[in-house]
Amino acid sequence: MILNGYWTVVWLYLLAALLGLVFAIVQSPWWVGFYLYHRMLIPTAVLIGIVGALEIAFRTVKSPRLDIWFILTATAIAFTVVFYNPNLHGMYAMFALSTLTSIMYFDRKRALLSCLLSIGALLVLQASPEHQASMTVYEIIAMIAMLIGAYLLGVGIILRGDQLRNQLKKAMESERDLLVDNIMYDTITKLDALTSLYNHKTFHEYLDSLLKLDLTSLRLQVALIDIDNFKMINDTYGHWVGDIVLKRIALMIREHLTPNDFVARYGGEEFAVILTDAEFDTSWATLDRIRELIAAEKFEELGDHTVTVSIGLVQREPGLCKEDLFKTADARLYEAKRTGKNRVVGTLHES
Ligand code: GH3
Ligand code: MG
Ligand code: MG
Repeated sequence: MILNGYWTVVWLYLLAALLGLVFAIVQSPWWVGFYLYHRMLIPTAVLIGIVGALEIAFRTVKSPRLDIWFILTATAIAFTVVFYNPNLHGMYAMFALSTLTSIMYFDRKRALLSCLLSIGALLVLQASPEHQASMTVYEIIAMIAMLIGAYLLGVGIILRGDQLRNQLKKAMESERDLLVDNIMYDTITKLDALTSLYNHKTFHEYLDSLLKLDLTSLRLQVALIDIDNFKMINDTYGHWVGDIVLKRIALMIREHLTPNDFVARYGGEEFAVILTDAEFDTSWATLDRIRELIAAEKFEELGDHTVTVSIGLVQREPGLCKEDLFKTADARLYEAKRTGKNRVVGTLHES
């Protein structure tokens, strides 16, 4: 962006010099030769050389330290323009170019450097008799004051930029905090604290949303899993051990379901599962495999004893409402308990 700005300055200088040439041809033809070389061609060539060198450096050396060279180039452009036009005092304003450039970096030190460089270049120019003759001391002081003014303005812009940046940072931080709070809130309200499975409320919300879709083509089964004789585990080993068993079983259920399935801690030592997009037999087999795995797991905390679960399974059929689904799953779970526990009860097309 800055480089493009510099090139624009070069082309504008050439354009202005061309206009000046027209006036020179019309008004003072004797001056055209001098004008052509010393006001137009040489300064333009020097400017192209300076900006071209910066362009090459920019394209080859990809270093952040190049910014100093950008500021130096701005001073060099101003110096060249002023040097070749000693009588055009307005050109001294070009020295503010480097301060403008430094503002782009939002850095006060660079702004100060550019201001000092410009004042230095202005004073160096006074060494040339032509410039000395064209400027009074008052004018030089006024120019320096103008450059300091530009510097102070630049610092003001930089400070305002810092302020805005801080405001933006704070706004982004509070937005992020809000996001984290929302996630935390979601976690607290949707998950069960002990097992990290979804909770009872989330289970119903999810099942409701699935049933509302009314996708008759979507196969859906609901299963209720209940740990057998859990009260006895609590009574024998204590609630603390009971909690460990609950967590482990929750993890095993979650690990052995497919990503299509959804498991929640329905309450106490009961889990509810929604299986989707699988044949009834496949879901039955999945649940039976989970039952087997749990039954085979030896719990250190229970002196290497095992724990079993009973499962009631039902498939969603047209005409079965949510309540019917639940009642059937519950009845089947009860049947599993009644017929000896550690089993899956569930058949297709039977309520
Ligand atoms: P069944 O085989 O018929 O299911 O018998 P059960 O003992 O598992 O069933 P019952 O309903 O008689 O007892 C369930 C027990 O689960 C009673 C309750 O104290 C215990 N329980 C419920 N929630 C928790 C919990 O979060 N942690 C622990 N440690 N125990 C719990
Ligand atoms: Mg139980
Ligand atoms: Mg129970």
